[in-house]
Amino acid sequence: MADLAIYYDSSKCTGCKGCMVACKTWNNLPSPIELNSQPYSGTYQNPVDLNENTRTIITYKERKRENAYGIDWAFGSRRCMHCTDAACVKVCPSGCLYHDDNGFVVMDIDKCIGCQYCRAACPFDVPRHTGVNVRGADIKIDKCDACATRVAHGMKPACVTTCQPNALDFGPREEMLTRAHERVEWLHKRGYADARVYGETEAGGTHVIMVLKYDISQYDLPENPNTNKGAASNVMKPLTALAAVGIVGGLGITYARAHGYHRDHMAYDTKTHDVVDMDKDEVERHIDKEAGER
Ligand code: SF4
Ligand code: SF4
Ligand code: SF4
Repeated sequence: MADLAIYYDSSKCTGCKGCMVACKTWNNLPSPIELNSQPYSGTYQNPVDLNENTRTIITYKERKRENAYGIDWAFGSRRCMHCTDAACVKVCPSGCLYHDDNGFVVMDIDKCIGCQYCRAACPFDVPRHTGVNVRGADIKIDKCDACATRVAHGMKPACVTTCQPNALDFGPREEMLTRAHERVEWLHKRGYADARVYGETEAGGTHVIMVLKYDISQYDLPENPNTNKGAASNVMKPLTALAAVGIVGGLGITYARAHGYHRDHMAYDTKTHDVVDMDKDEVERHIDKEAGER
């Protein structure tokens, strides 16, 4: 296992949103725009939250500088954190969500049954689900998969590749952690007393390592992510799996019973008003008989 991580440094991020565009481009995610379709957030943050077509957003918090001209920006990143103790993996009843060999939480989309337990369980409120109207398919999970298709070919994730000031990077998790601690030390020396590393231990240690420039309240991140939020779903997991098996089994039985059904075998009895099941010869005799009686 390679144990890789995505690195995000909020103190280097310029809020350009290039990562958001790159993510959509690589993952073929649309950007539907309709008049007033985006709620006004009063900030530059747009869209205001993750959605079924948006796997990563940059969060914007601005505040006026004390005793000085201008404002300070706290840019943050909202995306799947690729938790080691991944609540979504724990509750997923179908095996759709799992850890890959690099430690990232990826999806076998064909296995998603659209139950949305993962969204309820995720302490970062990350998974979103496509509806039938988006891709013409059943409801399925969508979230960052660390650009697994790129990583498998030795490339960095799309968002990382596009980031101009190197606020994003990608590599062995231990290296990303060392780098994050060095950067935090550097920030402390420059007066950013609240700067810290995020992701080292949270949720069992995440595979997104962040440098937070300001206090954690400036970022949409939980201080102590609760990875047992989906405990009830976890109890239900075997039942849901059983129900899924039951539904598939039921459909199989229905198919088996319906197999061999042909309209030729059915006839409408005009006296009893019943549809009766007959073989083809019987149907013909029945029709002749009814015609004779008329
Ligand atoms: S952030 Fe949420 S969706 Fe991503 S791995 Fe952690 S629990 Fe799963
Ligand atoms: S790693 Fe890939 S899927 Fe995840 S946010 Fe970056 S570009 Fe999007
Ligand atoms: S591309 Fe880099 S600098 Fe631009 S918003 Fe994304 S993380 Fe920040």
